[in-house]
Amino acid sequence: MDFMLAPEDVAFAGEVREFVEREWDSKGLDSYSNSVYSYDIHIQEDADRVEEFVKKLVDKGWWTMSWPKEFGGQAAPLGKRLAYHEAMAYAGAPADAPGFFAHTLMIEGQQWQKDTFLREMARGDHLNLSQGFSEPNSGADLASVRTRAVRDGDDWLITGQKIWNTGGHMADWGHYLVRSDPDAPKHRGISYFILDMKTPGITLRPLYDALGRFRWCEVFLDEVRVPNRNIIGEVNRGWYAAMTNMSFERGGVDAPARRLRDLEQFIEYGKRTKVNGESLIDGVVDRHQLADARVKIEIARMISYRVAWAQTRGEVPVMESSFSKLFNDEMTWEIYNIFRRILKDSSVLSVGEPRAPLRGYPAVNAYLSGMNRFAGGGKEIMSNIIAQRGLGLPR
Ligand SMILES: Cc1cc2nc3c(=O)[nH]c(=O)nc-3n(C[C@H](O)[C@H](O)[C@H](O)COP(=O)(O)OP(=O)(O)OC[C@H]3O[C@@H](n4cnc5c(N)ncnc54)[C@H](O)[C@@H]3O)c2cc1C
Repeated sequence: MDFMLAPEDVAFAGEVREFVEREWDSKGLDSYSNSVYSYDIHIQEDADRVEEFVKKLVDKGWWTMSWPKEFGGQAAPLGKRLAYHEAMAYAGAPADAPGFFAHTLMIEGQQWQKDTFLREMARGDHLNLSQGFSEPNSGADLASVRTRAVRDGDDWLITGQKIWNTGGHMADWGHYLVRSDPDAPKHRGISYFILDMKTPGITLRPLYDALGRFRWCEVFLDEVRVPNRNIIGEVNRGWYAAMTNMSFERGGVDAPARRLRDLEQFIEYGKRTKVNGESLIDGVVDRHQLADARVKIEIARMISYRVAWAQTRGEVPVMESSFSKLFNDEMTWEIYNIFRRILKDSSVLSVGEPRAPLRGYPAVNAYLSGMNRFAGGGKEIMSNIIAQRGLGLPR
């Protein structure tokens, strides 16, 4: 694979940068807190801002740039897609139709599901989908889900509890993993449902992050009636459909582009900020660590290119996407903690405190970016996938 973007892709990236600078208001937020909503994701003003911008992407045909033509996309070549994604992520802007869920539907969805949801997503609907995978006792061991679906004529009745539902309170629809055959081996008794979140029997309760911001919901399901036609793929084969989904969730060119902007902003701040007459980042150790961060960002970028390249060849790059996720999560955590260490005492000043460096975001992110090391499967789980499925090591 050639890791250089072609001249036409570089030129296209310039066009995207110009567009996003003109049209997207990041409200001065950094790229982690604003990915793509601000930390307080329930604020309606934020949702309106994202919706408005997405409509512009739809009009330009960029929103579904990566989709195959049969689903109304542009089937844009890899180089163009990478250039686009990097430019958008660098600006902290939303870039494409709910990526991994859309791709799962393309591969596993029934015809009516494709006709309905893909069409709606392509025009900018369903910006928030409630992902109902995790349960209080089923996180890393997702195949142990206990929320159950019981067949009732043409429908299923779903009962149980889901947790850590990101933005569930803003979603009209959800995609849920549910046990449909309690007697089958655990991976083979799960079905994958599309759920109308307005169906009677669904109750949401808010969950707050470590700094008190409303981000997630607990979802309680009490005999929620769902038509059989809402199953994605086949009954009891939901695990396999969901795993297709996960590999699209885990690979990502966004993180390195976002971290690059954070690093550049930090260095700029460090140069102009004097402590006892010296620049904040004059220390040898500090400079080495910042250089190390820049190298890691480039490595992360190359790994994500490899995942995207494998996906364009029709592969489901399970090991590579796990590697990409693991590397991105650790890198993100490390970079914000380098910032926090360099800022020393002033790093305790948080968002909302006028004297906080860089509006308090480096310090807050040093704290909150730790949660990425759990979301979508933690560090140990990614390492196990790489070891067993990638390197063929024994269990
Ligand atoms: C920011 C964020 C957003 C999220 N959004 C959603 C969402 O929208 N929808 C959703 O369904 N879920 C969501 N989650 C939940 C997420 O998927 C789970 O947190 C994750 O799967 C881990 O599950 P857990 O928290 O129950 O941890 P556990 O499964 O209890 O794991 C705890 C620790 O033990 C380690 N561990 C577990 N099993 C093993 C093993 N076999 N070998 C070695 N180590 C192991 C894990 O790596 C982890 O470090 C989100 C989580 C976060 C943090």
